This record gives sequence, structure tokens and C-alpha cells, in this order.
Amino acid sequence: MSDQEHLTCALCGEQITEDERDFCLADRERFKGLVFCFEHQKRFSACPALRWQPGRR
Ligand SMILES: [Zn+2]
Repeated sequence: MSDQEHLTCALCGEQITEDERDFCLADRERFKGLVFCFEHQKRFSACPALRWQPGRR
């Protein structure tokens, strides 16, 4: 029995891989305990240039 409930991105709901989920769970402080697809993981990057800015195009 595998744990499927966390295999979707918390932002877009896209299905993610176990690797992507594990990456987020390994860094709960950055991802706030949620899991994201690779595209949305970049919004939580430590690099400000890649960080998502609300309201910015
Ligand atoms: Zn996503």
C-alpha cells in the first residue's frame, strides 16, 4: 500500500513524482510542509530572482 495522497502539487493540483514529493518533505521549512510540482518548487527557491512575487507579471 503506497501513500498516494501527497502526490499532487499544493498549488496547481498536478500529479508529481515521489522524488518531487520527497524533495519537499525533506525541506519542510521552506515548503511549509506542503508538496509542489517542480515548476512550483522554484517559487520557493532561496534565490530571490526565482521567487514568485504576487501581483507581479
Ligand atoms: Zn504546481
